[in-house]
Amino acid sequence: MFECVPFNDEIISLKTATAQDDEPIMWSYAYQIGDVLIDAGCANAAHDLEGYLSDHEIKRVLVTHPHEDHCGGLSVLPDETVVYAHPSAVDQLLNPPELDDFFKFVWGQPKPIREVQPVPDQVSVGDYVLKVVDLSGHYSNMIGFLEREQGWLFSADAVPLPSKKYIAMPEEDISQMISTMERIQSMDLEVLFDGHRGPILTPEAHVQKRIDYLKTAQARAKALKEEGKSVGEIIAEMGYEGPWYLEATKGRFSIEFFIESLLRSDSGE
Ligand SMILES: [Zn+2]
Repeated sequence: MFECVPFNDEIISLKTATAQDDEPIMWSYAYQIGDVLIDAGCANAAHDLEGYLSDHEIKRVLVTHPHEDHCGGLSVLPDETVVYAHPSAVDQLLNPPELDDFFKFVWGQPKPIREVQPVPDQVSVGDYVLKVVDLSGHYSNMIGFLEREQGWLFSADAVPLPSKKYIAMPEEDISQMISTMERIQSMDLEVLFDGHRGPILTPEAHVQKRIDYLKTAQARAKALKEEGKSVGEIIAEMGYEGPWYLEATKGRFSIEFFIESLLRSDSGE
């Protein structure tokens, strides 16, 4: 699925997803600003993106992190388009890892691309300056793009999609995610351009809700650990269950990873 929704005169939301019963399983947002594209959506919508690109000129793509829902469209860009990413993401973009069936179904398998350039500190597009900011936590070295004057942050997956996140991948660092969100709160934003929710017009309240929830969950998990509870017992005490698709992720996501990450670090208190 592919939808293109202008946000204002400068920014267009490009929404990509896989359809299930004519409904998107989950949207992934890329954003066009001038001739720059921020992320490229999922591989299952790459063909639609290709059609869009045939009459919209994109010269540069800024990749926030190499997860398949953000980089799956890169392979359909014309050869002359320059792809920029954090240096640590380059190998994975050039040679995307083979996904398990569930993720091939949900997002599609990204194809290799030929070249990726290290992202500069900032990128100018028309009157705007997109400054690269570190948004590590969801993924190490994940980057976002801040237009300070306008108060725009293209935040990828820095702010969890559900307000009560309780599953995680092993590479996620929840304490770092909290401190990244606290840094986002200091940016004085007008709009948070989220990677899955689209443009959020009340960024402060949206982000604070997630910080408060994760900090409370962390304090609870740590207190239970101090009482001598195991990770399994902590999960039971905190009442976390499911979701239905957890098993299908074949261990890529789990509640245990979430609790272990909460317990691992000393920050966030
Ligand atoms: Zn991600």
